[in-house]
Amino acid sequence: MKAPAFSYLRPQQLHEVLALLETHGDEARLLAGGQTLLATLNMRLSEPALLIDMQAVSELKGLSLEGRNLRIGAMVTHTEIETSSLVAQYAPLLTAAAPHIAHRAIRNLGTFGGSIAYGDPAAEWPACLLALNGVIVVRSLRGERRIAADDFFTGLYTTELAPDEVIVACDIPVAQANQKISFSELARRHGDYAVVGLAATASLTDSILSDVRLAWIGVGSTPMRSFRAEQVLEGQSLSVQTITQAVDMLRSELAPIPDLTHSEAAKRQLAGVLLKRALSGWMPSIDTPANTPNTPLNPSAQKEPA
Ligand SMILES: Cc1cc2nc3c(=O)[nH]c(=O)nc-3n(C[C@H](O)[C@H](O)[C@H](O)COP(=O)(O)OP(=O)(O)OC[C@H]3O[C@@H](n4cnc5c(N)ncnc54)[C@H](O)[C@@H]3O)c2cc1C
Repeated sequence: MKAPAFSYLRPQQLHEVLALLETHGDEARLLAGGQTLLATLNMRLSEPALLIDMQAVSELKGLSLEGRNLRIGAMVTHTEIETSSLVAQYAPLLTAAAPHIAHRAIRNLGTFGGSIAYGDPAAEWPACLLALNGVIVVRSLRGERRIAADDFFTGLYTTELAPDEVIVACDIPVAQANQKISFSELARRHGDYAVVGLAATASLTDSILSDVRLAWIGVGSTPMRSFRAEQVLEGQSLSVQTITQAVDMLRSELAPIPDLTHSEAAKRQLAGVLLKRALSGWMPSIDTPANTPNTPLNPSAQKEPA
């Protein structure tokens, strides 16, 4: 199918984008990388009268350090994040997650802001932003708002974003020396959306965990954290016993939405496997290359079956 006819504008300045949104309201759609929007137009799931292309708006581009935050402009592409040394140093979770997003051609065009705005529960960036305690910076003619990732994703493909607001950037607290990260996902083929994925962060000081954030991909109607499993780990030292308790709590806490190929029970089981891998990878005594995320656990390091 082909997209319905629409008008197209390519403003140069952010204030022009905001003014166009204000004037055209629901008749207009923002176009970022187009990797989701153009497909929905071709399938006629959306029929906007006007597309506002943001490719020429330089205020929405670029990666920078702003105080204690890494700022990611909304129009920064997945590939720019994947290859950025600034991201690798200050938000390495994103570097680990980027290769899991689709394929190179899509990563070259798709943007961080587009992915956050779309709010797909199966996408990588929303879960990473939750795990990193990020903030979404949005602008309209009414002014600027900063929305914590924890408050942003409100339902299936729905967010806190008002119709006249544009995501201009996301702020991510820079990684501290004691930060632990893990990104892993299970997909049927490389580049597919994940069946289940986990973006995890924590601080580890004198072997004690704190600020544990476990953000899940593909289990709910939104990207979501498992607060009870986090609580099991908070203030604890990592041991096989603690890991088992956290995995048990996770499996009682999650109520995954089944998809075409995986039942609720299968997803719950797989989520436990991912959590066990992530936490085992943080244990100094079994922190061997064989235990890095995405590889099977060293059986001698973990006695129970997955
Ligand atoms: C074959 C295929 C496979 C894919 N696989 C994956 C995958 O494995 N993982 C994954 O995460 N994604 C995947 N994607 C989606 C891809 O990552 C998209 O790039 C992303 O979801 C949307 O980003 P975009 O820049 O293309 O946004 P667009 O498609 O341009 O826009 C998406 C929506 O967000 C709105 N929007 C865009 N930017 C802003 C902004 N700054 N402020 C407010 N609203 C805005 C648009 O109006 C639109 O409603 C896949 C896409 C395709 C086509």
